[in-house]
Amino acid sequence: MRILGIESSCDETGIAIYEEKKGVTAHQLYSQVKLHQEYGGVVPELASRDHVRKIIPLIEATLKQANLAPTDLTAIAYTQGPGLIGALLVGAAVAKSLAFAWQLPAMGVHHLEGHLLAPMLEENAPEYPFLALLVSGGHTMLVDVQGLGRYEIIGESIDDAAGEAFDKTAKIMGLDYPGGPLLAKLAEDGDGSEAKFPRPMTDRPGLDFSFSGLKTFAANRIAASEDTAQARANIAQAFQEAVVDTLAIKCKRALKQTGSKRLVVAGGVSANLVLREKLAELMASVGGAVFYPRHEYCTDNGAMIAYAGFCHFKQQTEHSTDNNHEIAVSPRWPLSESLAQD
Ligand code: ATP
Ligand code: MG
Ligand code: FE
Repeated sequence: MRILGIESSCDETGIAIYEEKKGVTAHQLYSQVKLHQEYGGVVPELASRDHVRKIIPLIEATLKQANLAPTDLTAIAYTQGPGLIGALLVGAAVAKSLAFAWQLPAMGVHHLEGHLLAPMLEENAPEYPFLALLVSGGHTMLVDVQGLGRYEIIGESIDDAAGEAFDKTAKIMGLDYPGGPLLAKLAEDGDGSEAKFPRPMTDRPGLDFSFSGLKTFAANRIAASEDTAQARANIAQAFQEAVVDTLAIKCKRALKQTGSKRLVVAGGVSANLVLREKLAELMASVGGAVFYPRHEYCTDNGAMIAYAGFCHFKQQTEHSTDNNHEIAVSPRWPLSESLAQD
């Protein structure tokens, strides 16, 4: 069984092939980061046009990399949502058209399910059930994962996502988009012990998050401090520490609530090394284990979509194929509705 995966929900065109027994045999990614950089964020219409330009050459390159012809494929999986409507439509239209031409089934995959299952592409893959912390540019949530398609969101951000907070704070600090990794780099030289940031919503019970106050706090700190590289690094370090600490506190609570000893961390912010270190400590202290995707599968990519498609296809879930020729996407699509619960 060989699944072609197509990701185009935001500003990355990702194409990959997942093969049963062999794993990911080809993987191509084109990031539009440079295109959007001068605007300080993703411009939806430019994103759609760039996907149009890149998607077919990338599919060709992926097939070539895997040394496969279209007739060798079993099915095509594409990101159906959530994401930018125009960007999603490019991937869906291409997936449905190729499926029609090549006489293959096509299936729509939930982007966040792709992120959630990405750690399973590693050799040391987690078994179900597990607790998942999904920290990306658009989402921050704690998910009780009982099995494929059985996702219960037990906590989420009531305002900014963790990645969004990183990006907005980085922008305030004058860093390029997307600022998350740049802010993390800057924080390496910082000592934030003076600029203690709050840990939002940790002083009350519950698993929800709120990160929008941290960027305001950072802005005030920047305004009040000297304009030196060291001062900026100190604020970056203190900000990162606050986000990481808050995430860890909520993970600890969620582990207690669910009784889980397995923690899966996915989404772009899971690339953050300080977060990884903190969660490794947490899991060691409770005698559990933490699982991550490799670096290149933390942010958007086609491999996670090919893999999620493969899982549904293999189990023949109700999402495994949609053989009509309608091109439809779901820009707003709650994860809990991605499959009917048992
Ligand atoms: P979603 O998946 O919710 O639709 P998205 O696809 O835009 O959102 P991802 O591609 O998963 O999000 O992740 C991108 C985010 O990850 C950005 O906000 C980026 O700043 C952040 N990020 C990436 N690397 C790091 C890092 N090392 N430290 C902190 N944040 C990071
Ligand atoms: Mg992106
Ligand atoms: Fe994403």
